[in-house]
Amino acid sequence: MSAAGINVTVCATYWVLVGFTVDANSSGEAYRWTNASASVQIVSGSNEVSDGSDLVAIEQALQTWSNVDCSGFAFNQVPTTPQVEVDFVSTDWPGYLDGALGVTLRERAGVTYLSGSIKLNDQDFPFGTLGEANVYDIESIAVHELGHVLGLEHTPHPAATMHYRGGRTHTFFRNLDDDDVTGACYLYPVLAFTCSVDNDCPVLMVNRGATTINTYCNGGSCSAGRTEYGHACYVDGDCLNSLCASHPDVPNAPATVPNPGFCAAACDTIACPTGSFCSDALTLAVGPVCFIGADGCIEDSDCPTAMGTNAVCDRDLDGWFRCVAFCVNDADCDFLSGASCVGSDPGVAAGRCRVPGNKARGVPCENALECQSLICGGGSPSYCCDGSDCTAAVMPQDGGPIDNRGNAMVGGCSTTPSPLLSVCVLGNTLLWWRRRRRRMAA
Ligand SMILES: [Zn+2]
Repeated sequence: MSAAGINVTVCATYWVLVGFTVDANSSGEAYRWTNASASVQIVSGSNEVSDGSDLVAIEQALQTWSNVDCSGFAFNQVPTTPQVEVDFVSTDWPGYLDGALGVTLRERAGVTYLSGSIKLNDQDFPFGTLGEANVYDIESIAVHELGHVLGLEHTPHPAATMHYRGGRTHTFFRNLDDDDVTGACYLYPVLAFTCSVDNDCPVLMVNRGATTINTYCNGGSCSAGRTEYGHACYVDGDCLNSLCASHPDVPNAPATVPNPGFCAAACDTIACPTGSFCSDALTLAVGPVCFIGADGCIEDSDCPTAMGTNAVCDRDLDGWFRCVAFCVNDADCDFLSGASCVGSDPGVAAGRCRVPGNKARGVPCENALECQSLICGGGSPSYCCDGSDCTAAVMPQDGGPIDNRGNAMVGGCSTTPSPLLSVCVLGNTLLWWRRRRRRMAA
């Protein structure tokens, strides 16, 4: 379909374009943790969650990064004297960080991280663990912030965990995308690092983004230079075709360091790859360009009139930009077969018309749209869940007890891998014991 400079490319499977960035020193060397590991203490939970699932969510986030096959990195949870603290802040959130869901601090020396700290803004944001509509998902935000701890910076791909903008209701940050995995495996490869394509190589964000160095794959290792379509970039000179663009939803990037754009391409020079969308949303000399991470729209005006006047171009539950319709009740979604209004809270927040997937609770999932419940739990593997029990710990795998890595257990309860958490599943009853430490409010 082509109209008004807009081409729609729809395929069954996505070609996930990769573009990641990493933290680097003034010599252009990436910072890393010694021995590819960091110890972590969860200092406190959220004041908004009282059943302990906030701590489970963070533990799951730690495991998500520790379980990347091609990366040797591991977080180790400790009860005291950690290298990295994770903490919720419920009062006196610093004014200069207004609007931030969370912040990650890293202490650096030479090419090494010495310590780190993650602060989550419990003061200003509604946090939850159940995949509730209009609530920020703790596990998703924890996975993102822990990615910064590893040394990753932001990616331009909107469906990736290391994208710079998290939204209410979104749980897709729980599951790593190719960008995130490629970044972790660049920093902490199990075997000696070797690249095969430009997208295996990072943009180095030097001195917290004061300058940036783009790298490409040069005979198996990454060298400074220009890169192909879809790679992260900060300036036009980073790209082979001298065009570094950004999604209009994030104005002023890439000029606004530290958020990267992507090496774009004029629609009349390439067929937009699957998972890209051609749009004239930016006024560029080359005309319309292909945008990554978009499945059907860039601007609201791209949405068909058949969807009604409440259709907008927004990030869907899997992180991709596509047309979705706001709604108050199910009748508002009549235009879409099988859809119901999800997340509506009249007078407070609009819902979205969604068509649930066909996977039942406990079936492995990649993203929420596959699930009947429209919630895909975290961890690896992930399972469709119903909101009341979205950790791998309670997802049935083979009908028997499973531990908190989702592995089958033979009898009894597991106390590994976390020294702070024991989980067992007997029938449908989840039991857990933990030593919970909560910082007491003054
Ligand atoms: Zn971030």
